[in-house]
Amino acid sequence: MKVIDIINKAKSTVFSFELLPPLKGNDTKRMYQTIESLVGFDPKYINITTHRDELEFKELEDGSIVKRTVRKRPGTVAIAAAIQHKYGIPVIPHILCGGFSKSETEHVLIDLNFLGIENVLALRGDGVKNQHVFKPDPNGHANANELVTQIKDLQNGKYLEADLKNNTPLDFCIGVAGYPEKHFESPNKELDLTFLKQKVDAGADYIVTQMFFDNRVYYDFVDKCREIGITVPIIPGIKPINLKNQLTVLPKLFSIDLPFALAKELAKCKNNEEARHVGTEWAIHQSKDLVVNNAPSLHIYTYGISDNVGEIVKAAF
Ligand code: FAD
Repeated sequence: MKVIDIINKAKSTVFSFELLPPLKGNDTKRMYQTIESLVGFDPKYINITTHRDELEFKELEDGSIVKRTVRKRPGTVAIAAAIQHKYGIPVIPHILCGGFSKSETEHVLIDLNFLGIENVLALRGDGVKNQHVFKPDPNGHANANELVTQIKDLQNGKYLEADLKNNTPLDFCIGVAGYPEKHFESPNKELDLTFLKQKVDAGADYIVTQMFFDNRVYYDFVDKCREIGITVPIIPGIKPINLKNQLTVLPKLFSIDLPFALAKELAKCKNNEEARHVGTEWAIHQSKDLVVNNAPSLHIYTYGISDNVGEIVKAAF
């Protein structure tokens, strides 16, 4: 089932969560444990992240340095299909511009269609580590709006080869990312919103937000989107804090603010257990408020740690 249909049919806020595929070398045991700890809370869909190739520099015994390309978390398409098949819950694999040519993207979309997957989240992705600016693949897309257009074209049976015959339309529900506190590269919020509208105009069915810790930031963002004519559902992203160092790591990694009250409580914590308690209570407070205010869905970022997600969902719904 498509996310947009799930949201449109739901009478109240639904629950969903985001998972990372296992690290290369690991099996699927931990990931399935995470899912099994949450299926009882009736998640309506599950997002699966995608990770591009990374550059690594390794020093050899003779002091020389070799450069190698590694993909630390391969397998998004396979894991997404396995989850949908095993649990009967719709999955939303993330599709990236960065590191992929248009042709590779088309092949992934064909695979997803063959596997019965009807949803994707279309993203640009970030630059490879140590690269200051995002560089698109020479035969790929520079921004997510172009990726949305490619996916939309397939909905109309338009493949990359113009002379292809008997084209089957590939019909995906498309989500895109939105940034209530602005994307870190954007010179200002207004321009960032203009580009967000461009993604929606290209055919995105809904928006999922970057994590935020002050619900007013989300409500203001929704208002601003509506003012410029974005009418699609805007799904809030919630990140339960579970480590003490996230007080400084999250703002740095995601260009977001932690409200003073939350930062003050986290700074007082002596260990991860105390930080996890503070983070869980904060996420419960945020989630309850979003449910009361009829957010379409909660998108919970698990990053593979699910023990407090159940607590949050139990308290909020
Ligand atoms: P875009 O929409 O392309 O925007 C990127 C920047 O370019 C912004 O500053 C925007 O203002 C600007 N811009 C947009 N369009 C144009 C244009 N036409 N011309 C000029 N400038 C433009 N990353 C991963 O690697 N894997 C994942 O699985 C993943 N999942 C995510 C899930 C969610 C819900 C979110 C919010 C983010 C996720 N990310 C993931 C991170 C994401 O890839 C990065 O934030 C990335 O830097 C931007 O992606 P985007 O799709 O928002 O890009």
